[in-house]
Amino acid sequence: MIFLVLTITAVVSAETIIATKSNFTKPIDLSYNLDEDTPGWFPDNHYARIKIIAGNSIPPDNAWYAENTFEAPEHIGTHLDAPYHFNKKGRKVADIPLETLFHVEGIHVDVTNEVHGEPKFVLDEHHLRRWTETYGKIESKSVLLINFGWANRYWNRSAYMGYNENSRNFPGISIPAARWIVENPNIVGVGVDTPSVDVGHSNTFDVHRILTGANVYLLENVALNNTYLPARGFQLVVMPMKLTHGTGAPTRIIASPYCIGGAGLAKVSKFAIFVMFVASLLKAHVR
Ligand SMILES: [Zn+2]
Repeated sequence: MIFLVLTITAVVSAETIIATKSNFTKPIDLSYNLDEDTPGWFPDNHYARIKIIAGNSIPPDNAWYAENTFEAPEHIGTHLDAPYHFNKKGRKVADIPLETLFHVEGIHVDVTNEVHGEPKFVLDEHHLRRWTETYGKIESKSVLLINFGWANRYWNRSAYMGYNENSRNFPGISIPAARWIVENPNIVGVGVDTPSVDVGHSNTFDVHRILTGANVYLLENVALNNTYLPARGFQLVVMPMKLTHGTGAPTRIIASPYCIGGAGLAKVSKFAIFVMFVASLLKAHVR
């Protein structure tokens, strides 16, 4: 009987830890709306809705019909950089394997409290090492999401780009950190809540080159300002528009709690409690 009580207590407390750590029970959208206010990399990079049909125009009863045409750079809003963007032999958007986009593990490296809004902050190798020491190794296909605390500036273009004497200024990833990332073949993508994985003032784009050189795709302008996103224990669905020759593409990114057989994490844990409870009863009965 003591065994039974201990078993139930252990499973319940494990579930409680998971629940209180994240409060993350529903899917989270990590993409921004794409519209005329979206801040482009260059001031004249715009999403444009160039044609609108909206009216009661379908005969015979004048039923409603609406249609827009849009024009946009590949690299606008929340988007994916295909390896081909900086690697001549790298994959284009439509060639990226589905298993690296769908239900990959999300790794949330949140350095907001160290950045303190400082645009010169650079994520270094030691930040990534510390993450793995705290939360464990990265052993399944994963996408790193680096949270610089920059997402709240997104809709204010000059604050987001950090313009200063015509140069952009926002945090980025260091060259040693990029090398650390490509040494782990389980890391298939890297996302940031800034306009670029390189620091804002870079004009050599070394981090882009190192990561795409290893066929790692990049996600930029990721909406990481959702406080429920835990350090790990969630999965990502990354859906770029399937552009055949795409060097990049606007992308929808969804984070969701892990699912096993379609059941949510909490349900699985309750089921585990039930199974262990029955097993304990049987064991007690055999004795
Ligand atoms: Zn890009």
